[in-house]
Amino acid sequence: MIKLKGIAASGGISIGKVVCWGQEEFIIPKRKIAHEDISREIYRLEESLIDTRKEISALQKKIGHEFGFDHAKIFEAHLLVLEDRVLIEDIIQQIKDKKFNVEHAFSQSIRKYVNALLKLNDDYLRERVLDIEDVSRRVLRKLLQQEEMKIDNAGGKVVIVAHDLPPSQTINLPKENILGFVTDIGGRTSHTAIIARSLGIPAVVGLEVATRNIHYGDTVIVDGSLGEIIVNPTDKQIKEYTEKKSRHARGVKPSLSSRAVKVSTKDGREVVISANVELPEEIPLVVQAGAEGVGLYRTEYMFLGRRDLPGEEEQYRAYLSVAKKVKPHQVIIRTIDIGGDKFLSRPEVPSEMSPFLGWRAIRFCLAKPELFKTQLRAILRASAEKNVKVMFPMISGLEELRQAKALIEECKKELKKANKPYDEKISIGTMIEVPSAALTADLLAKECDFFSIGTNDLIQYSLAVDRANEKVAYLYEPGHPAVLRLIQSIISKAHDNKIWVGMCGEMAGEPLFAFLLLGMGLDEFSMPPPYVPKTKELIAGVTYAQAQEVAKKVASLPTAKDVEQFLYGEVKRILGSNFERIVMT
Ligand code: PEP
Ligand code: MG
Repeated sequence: MIKLKGIAASGGISIGKVVCWGQEEFIIPKRKIAHEDISREIYRLEESLIDTRKEISALQKKIGHEFGFDHAKIFEAHLLVLEDRVLIEDIIQQIKDKKFNVEHAFSQSIRKYVNALLKLNDDYLRERVLDIEDVSRRVLRKLLQQEEMKIDNAGGKVVIVAHDLPPSQTINLPKENILGFVTDIGGRTSHTAIIARSLGIPAVVGLEVATRNIHYGDTVIVDGSLGEIIVNPTDKQIKEYTEKKSRHARGVKPSLSSRAVKVSTKDGREVVISANVELPEEIPLVVQAGAEGVGLYRTEYMFLGRRDLPGEEEQYRAYLSVAKKVKPHQVIIRTIDIGGDKFLSRPEVPSEMSPFLGWRAIRFCLAKPELFKTQLRAILRASAEKNVKVMFPMISGLEELRQAKALIEECKKELKKANKPYDEKISIGTMIEVPSAALTADLLAKECDFFSIGTNDLIQYSLAVDRANEKVAYLYEPGHPAVLRLIQSIISKAHDNKIWVGMCGEMAGEPLFAFLLLGMGLDEFSMPPPYVPKTKELIAGVTYAQAQEVAKKVASLPTAKDVEQFLYGEVKRILGSNFERIVMT
């Protein structure tokens, strides 16, 4: 038994068997073979190539049926690698001339091939390297006769342990079979953590040594609330944590029976509690949680983990289905936030030194007006349902907002000409997640209809702390006075200019901060669906006056630690016996 400590990324407890993700490392035997074994080794090569082709075609078919044939195209490049005569001839040559065993000959030829492609410094070919490496792992697995560590093969639900789980991979995992996520790297607001929270899957990230200490088939306890992992626990620990798990489940169950109704404080201040979603499939969770619509629809997830781009019709169908399902409430559709830690599997997006500061979100969209307009037209068409709002990510100044709005006007004209209906008065919002936008919120507020504060980024940009880097996670402090001052100033500037202001960063769903934000005057709180019931209960259990009083005192506290301690004491005092259930589970 070993205990590991990481960053608590998504609350709850799970106990299960481990599947290690994306870390198969093969020990490749190197042998000289006898002359009479040459044909046998070539036969083994051909057999493994045929088996791999069958495996990939089956996977292609499965993905095609489940997610549409556009998604399945991703495997065409993989199949081409298996048919590459130059590569195959090279391997055969090594077996015949150098008399190497097939595994060694294969891995040598692949390495040569990959190095040659990398030297060409061509983005398209670099993209092909990933295909080649993926195919090569499959072939080697066949040659070495290793069973593929498939989640579906694991005989039930599993805990995924990985060095990293970028959104482009998480998106394709069968979420219904996943009990927990455990990663070496990442912070509380990295996108794996966000997805885990949205789906209510316990997760611990930033463990640094997880993949070194946890192996395929181990049993682990994931305590996502404390950020702890127990590897191969004793029977006593399993019993203890099974009890803790049922206590947690009881605590999470909302005692507020009202579903999807407005929530107000004891003294009558109404606020909107809405939900963040990444995929249309999450909408049932939103409805179940009693959220007042969707405050953030991260549309970029539709673009991840696939080679092609979704066209206008595909996007329109997705946005329309969400708009219809959340009625009578609203959905705020955020235009794509590609870049940062979310990348397209396409060659036209080069790798960058500092992707969070680079070609991301609105910057990427404005540089690709056709791609952007395809999305804007799809959103506008869905807005004919009259419950759609649109919002731009990572606006850093007024000019970007104006350019984006001008493209919306162009799209409106195109749709009018094509006789396609849309909401003429669609609300346009700006995410405030870059310090320059926060500092010029008065200017932005005059030219848009609402704000949504993106604290996940606002904190990383204002404190200069990479949100996905576990090494500096201790500096990622939502309660830092600099962050709180920025938030207070954004709220005041929005209200001075008569627009409403919400928050869709993770901070809005953290109970102590939600109470503080209520006191600071926030109008809308958007969070992963599982956090909605507790936040509604929190709001219904306090008065606005109490929250305002606390916010006033917090404004004079000098450090994040002081802020958190003070909030803890005050919220505990106000909620009394409900504190444990609402705040601590
Ligand atoms: C944010 O930055 O707070 C936000 C909600 O956007 P994302 O997490 O997708 O960057
Ligand atoms: Mg953001």
